[in-house]
Amino acid sequence: MHAVSTSAPTVPASKSGYIRVTSVAFWGVHLAAVIGVIACGWSWQGAALAVVSYFVRMIVVTGAYHRYFAHRAFKTSRWFQFVLALGAQSAAQRGVLWWASHHRTHHKNSDTPKDVHSAKLRGFWYSHIGWIMRPEWDHTDRTIVGDLAKFPELRVLDNPTLSILPTVALALAFLFLGGAHALVWGYFVSTVLLWHGSFSINSLAHLFGKRRYATSDDSRNNWALALLTTGEGWHNNHHHYQSSANQGFRWWEIDVTYYCLRLLALTGLIWDLRRPPREVVEESAAVAAPDSAAVAA
Ligand SMILES: [Zn+2]
Ligand SMILES: [Zn+2]
Repeated sequence: MHAVSTSAPTVPASKSGYIRVTSVAFWGVHLAAVIGVIACGWSWQGAALAVVSYFVRMIVVTGAYHRYFAHRAFKTSRWFQFVLALGAQSAAQRGVLWWASHHRTHHKNSDTPKDVHSAKLRGFWYSHIGWIMRPEWDHTDRTIVGDLAKFPELRVLDNPTLSILPTVALALAFLFLGGAHALVWGYFVSTVLLWHGSFSINSLAHLFGKRRYATSDDSRNNWALALLTTGEGWHNNHHHYQSSANQGFRWWEIDVTYYCLRLLALTGLIWDLRRPPREVVEESAAVAAPDSAAVAA
């Protein structure tokens, strides 16, 4: 059980903190992907499996972990909330409460010394993968996810040991249904790509792109990242109005996760999708930052 802390550490403790079970597992999955591809070889079916497993899980993790659990951008029933958490945990990005608490902390302290992963202050690598390895961020601050931690089933799912079960179950499903080839491409290759796709929003989306809104952080809109992350690349929009179910604010800002949430709403499984008021979207004309394509390293 991890200790609960309400204060965010501001400086990584030591280099040795990077060598631990979490980082060994993280690089172990990378190694398994590389060795697996060498051993099993390339196939179009394998590549297709990796792409499908990547995008399905990207939609689930962004729709569930990010837009629902971290930002409460729509409503759902208690049982479907559990299904969303279960599905998102197949992405191997730790438990639902851990994810939501760290993400809320990021928004609360964006690009300040208390930010969990500020690319502006700590550079690309720390914001991309370094912070995840650090023991300082193992704790889950339940004081800022009290609305989620009140559900015992979510607390069970978030347990550090139990939280890996959904992703292990997915790996085993690939193995039993498609053999080693499916395991390598559908799980290992796909999971590595999914990690770096998700993490690029913490790193690249605070470094490269356009700033439509003069938010107090360095968030940016980046169309390439938006395509790779099913809509999360409209990150400056998101920092400007966090509780919106859509992150693409204009018709041409492709946001696949939002389209999927709209479809889900048609089934009645989710409802009350929040959208930014027109004046919030139009605010850009009044407060747009000066040319902000410059990169803060
Ligand atoms: Zn951000
Ligand atoms: Zn967010």
